[in-house]
Amino acid sequence: MAVLAGLAAICGAGNAREAGPHDAVAGVTPKYVAAPGCTEEVAAVLRLAADQALTVVPRGTGTKLAWGAPPRSVDLVLDTTRLARVVEHAAGDLVVVVEAGTRLDTLQETLAAHGQRLALDPPSGGTVGGTVAANAAGPLRLLYGTARDLLIGVTVVRADGVVARAGGKVVKNVAGYDLGKLFTGSYGTLGVITQAVFRLHPLPAARAYVTRTVADAAEASRLVQAVLRSQLVPAALELDLPRPGGPATLVVLLEGAPAGVPARAETLVALLGGDARAGEEAPPWWGRHPFGPDDITLKIAYPIADLEAVMTALAGAGGLEPTLRGSVGTGVLHAGLPGDADPAAVARLLGTLRQALRPWGSAILLQAPPAVAVDRWGDVPALALMRRVKTQFDPAHRLSPGRFVGGI
Ligand SMILES: Cc1cc2nc3c(=O)[nH]c(=O)nc-3n(C[C@H](O)[C@H](O)[C@H](O)COP(=O)(O)OP(=O)(O)OC[C@H]3O[C@@H](n4cnc5c(N)ncnc54)[C@H](O)[C@@H]3O)c2cc1C
Repeated sequence: MAVLAGLAAICGAGNAREAGPHDAVAGVTPKYVAAPGCTEEVAAVLRLAADQALTVVPRGTGTKLAWGAPPRSVDLVLDTTRLARVVEHAAGDLVVVVEAGTRLDTLQETLAAHGQRLALDPPSGGTVGGTVAANAAGPLRLLYGTARDLLIGVTVVRADGVVARAGGKVVKNVAGYDLGKLFTGSYGTLGVITQAVFRLHPLPAARAYVTRTVADAAEASRLVQAVLRSQLVPAALELDLPRPGGPATLVVLLEGAPAGVPARAETLVALLGGDARAGEEAPPWWGRHPFGPDDITLKIAYPIADLEAVMTALAGAGGLEPTLRGSVGTGVLHAGLPGDADPAAVARLLGTLRQALRPWGSAILLQAPPAVAVDRWGDVPALALMRRVKTQFDPAHRLSPGRFVGGI
C-alpha cells in the first residue's frame, strides 16, 4: 500500500493503481501500474522502484508486449502513454523531438502536415518508445534503415532513476559512444526511453507499387536479386506467401518525383516480366504481419542472397504450414503458425532453420505458448559482453529481467 501511495504521489492519484490480469506481461501479472507524465516523474518512479527493489517493465500501447521471453518477475508496469507530446518539430532542420509514449501514427500525422515523415513504418498502433526499444521496422527499412539509423538523440532514465541524454538535434552529432544505438533494440532492459530525436525525410510526391506473381522460391530469389542489382532505387521490396507451396506475390515500392516514378515503374515492369504490373495502391497485406494475435510467430533474418534456402527450409517444415511475409530486399521474414501447432514440430522447425541460417542469420521465436520450450533467441554473438553492459546499466537486474537474449 505504501508503494501505491508513493507512486500516486509522484504521478497523480489517477495515474497509479493496482494491476489486474489484463496488465500481464507475457503471462506474468504485475502488482502495480504507474503512468508518469514527464521524464522527471519517470525518474522519481524508478528511484522509488529502486528503493523498494521492484522489478519494472516499460509498456507503450502494449501491442506486442507478449513478444520476447516472459519476464522472470514484474512488480511494476511503467506505462508511457502519458508521455505523448511532440516536443519540437524543427521542420527546417528535418528533425523532430518527441516523447516516447507518442503513438507513431500520431507523430506521422503531425509531420505530414508539414510534408515530412519519419521513414519508419512498422505495423501500426505502437509508440515511439516501443518502436525504438524493439528496433521495429516495416517495408521502408530497405531504403531508410531502422530506428537505429534514424535516431539521432535519446533521453533515457536509468534503473537508479538518473536521467541520461545522448546525441542531440544535429544529424552530425558530438563525439562519444553512440548510446542511442545501444538503447535501440534493448527491449526495455537497459533503461526507460522518455524522449527520442529523429531525422526526418520529405514525404514522396509520387508512389508506384509494382506487383508480380512468383511461382517458387528460386524465382523469388532471382527476381529479388534483379531488382536489387538494378539502378531503380526501390523504397521497399516485399514478399507475401499466404500458403506454403502456393503462389507468392512480390511487390516493389518506388517513390520520388511525379516526373520520374512512372518511367521507373515501366522499366521495373519490363525487368520483372511475367504478369508484372504497376499501380498506385499498396496491397491490403502491405506493412502487416502475416499472423494473428494468438498465433505462434517467428522472425527470420538472413543474408539477402539466401532467400531460396530459407524458403526451402520453411517449406519442408515437417507438416507445419507457415504463412510467410517480409522484407526480402533486406533479408527479414516473418512466419506465422496456428497457436495450437504441435510444440515439438515447432521446436524442430526452429532447429532446422537455425542450422540452415548459420553463421550469419537468426531465427527468433517472438511469441509462442509455454509448451514450445525452446530458447527464443538462439545463439547470440558477444553475449558475455552484452551481459556486462546490462550489469553496468542495471546492476540489480530489475528492468525487464529475463526478456532478452541469454535470459538478460
Ligand atoms: C521481442 C520483440 C521483437 C519485435 N520485433 C519486431 C519487428 O521485427 N518488427 C516489428 O514491426 N515489430 C516488432 N516488434 C513489435 C514492436 O515492439 C511494436 O511494433 C512496438 O514495440 C509497439 O510499441 P508498443 O508501444 O505497443 O510497445 P509495447 O508492446 O508496449 O512494448 C514493446 C517492448 O518495448 C519495451 N518498451 C516500451 N516502451 C518503452 C520505453 N519507453 N522505454 C524502454 N522500453 C520500452 C517494452 O518493455 C517491450 O519490451 C517486436 C517486439 C518485441 C517485444
